[in-house]
Amino acid sequence: MDHGLIGEHLPHSFSKEIHEKLGYYGYELCEVSRDDLHRFMTQRDFRGINVTIPYKEAVIPYLHEISDRAKKIGAVNTVVNKNGVLYGDNTDYGGMTALILKSGIEIKGKKVLILGTGGTAKTARAVISDLGAASVITVSRTKSDTAISYGEAVSLHLDADVILNATPVGMFPLTDAAPISLDGFNNLLGVIDVIYNPLNTRLMLDARERGIKAENGLYMLVAQAILAAEIFTGKKLSAEITNRIYRDILQKKQNIVLVGMPGSGKSTVGKTLAAELSMPFVDTDELIVKKAGMEITEIFSRFGEEYFRDLESEVIKEAGLLNGTVISTGGGAVLRRKNVNELKKNGKIFFLDRPVSELIPTDDRPLADKKEKIEALYGVRYPIYCAAADITVGVSETPENTADAIKRFL
Ligand code: NAP
Repeated sequence: MDHGLIGEHLPHSFSKEIHEKLGYYGYELCEVSRDDLHRFMTQRDFRGINVTIPYKEAVIPYLHEISDRAKKIGAVNTVVNKNGVLYGDNTDYGGMTALILKSGIEIKGKKVLILGTGGTAKTARAVISDLGAASVITVSRTKSDTAISYGEAVSLHLDADVILNATPVGMFPLTDAAPISLDGFNNLLGVIDVIYNPLNTRLMLDARERGIKAENGLYMLVAQAILAAEIFTGKKLSAEITNRIYRDILQKKQNIVLVGMPGSGKSTVGKTLAAELSMPFVDTDELIVKKAGMEITEIFSRFGEEYFRDLESEVIKEAGLLNGTVISTGGGAVLRRKNVNELKKNGKIFFLDRPVSELIPTDDRPLADKKEKIEALYGVRYPIYCAAADITVGVSETPENTADAIKRFL
């Protein structure tokens, strides 16, 4: 192997994509079982590797040299093979620092709760202490000399300024979970979640709903990879490279979600946008028809609106976890707040704001088949669309122009 990543399970890793974008070397994802780690590390059949769960500590005995930074943290995520001599370093520290600085969440003089006691929590502790936090408190499921329990966190530390999640809780596929409730944390300025799949975890969405800044772990992932690439190649790489690759990956992973009134042009604009950006397109109404095996008018007439909305929620939950897809939704998709949260997990929501006078009734939309029905719906739903949307876009005369307006926000 030239360069690559070793870990026990690597099904969702973005590392290959990030390293290969640099164009300096090939990069393989290499699953190594616990029984095979000894053979892999003693054969040294690689030029450079990154190391992930669960081997960041286990590789240390095989190394001939180790950086002071990696020694201090007690974990190695980058190993270079220099003619048989293995040198280990830790770029998670630099990646975590870059993430916190990018988030704009102030650490100096603040009280920070770190959730979890694994390798990432240890890195976070080192970074946050070095950034001048007033106090850093580790929270664990198991209380110890160095960590408090979650019960103590919510009874003794509701005045925390920042919460950093360094546990896997909320990660795909169990995206409904949050490691802690934010109720009562009335001082909270920011939440940092090291998870990047989904892009917006339940914890982050809870924070934003309370007006609290929240940042995911994608920037850390990219920044630590670029720092590892510097070690592999001996070249200094600019912050602009990190930012460019971060934006590329974000765009590839982020869905573009279109919401708005029936007849506002979501499907047409969505298809146009998908074609122009070479992204897949899905329409949640079409997914419902496929799932139910009947048209929407028939679902309404045979089973009623509530049944339709339940099907819609099921379909939206699945669609929300797609990546890099243009998703057109039904007019009522945002009526349930839980649907909005599902769509936000990986998506940016655009409200296509078309004046009510331009919305045309059609027979295939049971709730919008008459002008009066459209006007009544519009009055009720307009504030709901505005509240659900990250961005409101006025609908132009052509789908191309509306698609262009959306692209300007990406
Ligand atoms: P880890 O060693 O497995 O540690 C995770 C810690 O989380 C554990 O020590 C545990 O602490 C806690 N935890 C585990 N399962 C939990 C559960 N069901 N409920 C509550 N707490 C739980 O993992 P890690 O290497 O530190 O990684 C942690 C997370 O960071 C992962 O999601 C990983 O994908 C992510 N990560 C992101 C980046 C990035 O670049 N953005 C880099 C590295 C890792 P207690 O037992 O003490 O509660």
